[in-house]
Amino acid sequence: MADEYANYIDGEWVESETGETFENRNPANSDDLIGYFQQSNSEDAARAAAAASAAETEWAETPGPERGSILSETARNLDDRKDELTETLVREEGKARGEAAGEVQRAIDIFSYYAEKTRDIGGVNKQSSSRHTNLQTVTEPVGVAGLITPWNYPIAIPAWKIAPALAAGNTAVFKPASMAPNVSRKLVECLDEAGLPAGVLNYVTGPGSEVGSTFATHEAVDAVSFTGSTQVGNHVYDMAAEDQKRVQLEMGGKNPVVVSKSADLDDAVEIAANGAFGVTGQACTATSRAIVHEELYDEFVDRLVERAAEIEIGPGLDGFDMGPQVTESELESTMEYIELGRDEGATLETGGGQPEGDRFDDGFFVEPTVFSDVDPDMQIAQEEIFGPVLAVIPASDFDDALEIANGVQYGLSASIVTNDLTESNRFVSEIEAGVVKINEKTTGLELHVPFGGMKASSSETFREQGDAGLDFFTISKTVYTN
Ligand code: NAP
Repeated sequence: MADEYANYIDGEWVESETGETFENRNPANSDDLIGYFQQSNSEDAARAAAAASAAETEWAETPGPERGSILSETARNLDDRKDELTETLVREEGKARGEAAGEVQRAIDIFSYYAEKTRDIGGVNKQSSSRHTNLQTVTEPVGVAGLITPWNYPIAIPAWKIAPALAAGNTAVFKPASMAPNVSRKLVECLDEAGLPAGVLNYVTGPGSEVGSTFATHEAVDAVSFTGSTQVGNHVYDMAAEDQKRVQLEMGGKNPVVVSKSADLDDAVEIAANGAFGVTGQACTATSRAIVHEELYDEFVDRLVERAAEIEIGPGLDGFDMGPQVTESELESTMEYIELGRDEGATLETGGGQPEGDRFDDGFFVEPTVFSDVDPDMQIAQEEIFGPVLAVIPASDFDDALEIANGVQYGLSASIVTNDLTESNRFVSEIEAGVVKINEKTTGLELHVPFGGMKASSSETFREQGDAGLDFFTISKTVYTN
């Protein structure tokens, strides 16, 4: 029998009022039942919000370095359990082992980073134009933060919301994605064991339409930080904005790599393949379009097909390069897009199916897939697929490539492979994306610089990570003292 796991509300591990649970399974082997999680409802979510509200003043008044020492201790607890957390993450979400270990390390580093930041949170003194006035800014926490996260980075994304929220003196209610709630439950255990006071962080599992929407609308919640699909994010925005809450949204992408005429082809193929097929293409920053100068196009496609064939697919726990899709429905969605690509008239160069063999029998595996002869207006070139599918689009010159790159609703991450400085400079200034990479893959982020998108990828008003990650969770006052 698999274990049943509780919510964490007001410092206690408690069951939902519904008395119901949902199950979570390993996407590489659906016979492997991970556990049962609380199928919470709006009342559970409201109790969590009330607990966070009750803890608000005491936590806000706790000196920053004291809050920081709890975050540091959390980082140490995470580090002590690193192997276990890596295995948990692979088992519930399907990443390759190395990718999962990197993600767990990122969570550890995020807690250490924001622990240090607690010493700097506050305001600044400024010179006044009047000699009788002391002019300063002071910062305060926003209050109770509602944190809603997706399944695809199930420990790193919770960490990059929870750590700055708590560092800045906010209390929080946190809802993980139903498809991968276990590794973030262990993150909450690490915070609890680090001595986090009751009510400061509350973890509630259950459907987004119940728990998530309660967090987005509850009167005790002052700010909502959401990462997930554009469709749900826009709905969360509408709900939260009605109550004039502060809202941060990080959403989908359709990220391009532009391969210029001057590009080194080996680099271009490696950058495109890593960006498209790493983490099974299930990253918001995954490369899903390669926009390639027509003179390099055929050779690029040939080499990319060879490169895709080198990727070993299989369960992450057994050390393979590329794991499964997270659920059967995500696999079906990818397969439908592959079918659509064929129907739209693109040429399927490689992949397009589910791999065959014993190790694939009980998992949601799909082959790395490359389409050529893709028209920029096709749906496979416009919509987020969220699987290992790359659309290769020809471009006649740099201007054409830029126009194609910008010709989608999203604007998260974008890369160019080039040896031409004029092109790379123009790319930086003219590409519509919040993250711009020159001769690097679209995926991969550093934790101390801002992250966020443009257009339908983000609310654009607040960035995550780095110093910018604290801005969302703080309010500034300007004080004139005569
Ligand atoms: P999703 O379906 O939008 O879900 C995200 C979160 O919202 C989950 O916790 C979900 O709960 C919750 N939710 C669902 N319906 C809700 C509602 N009515 N009210 C409030 N919350 C609700 O996204 P996903 O499938 O988990 O993640 C994949 C998407 O996330 C992709 O589009 C990807 O690009 C995006 N993403 C963006 C970034 C970024 O930083 N820009 C990073 C990672 C992922 P349930 O799980 O219970 O449904």
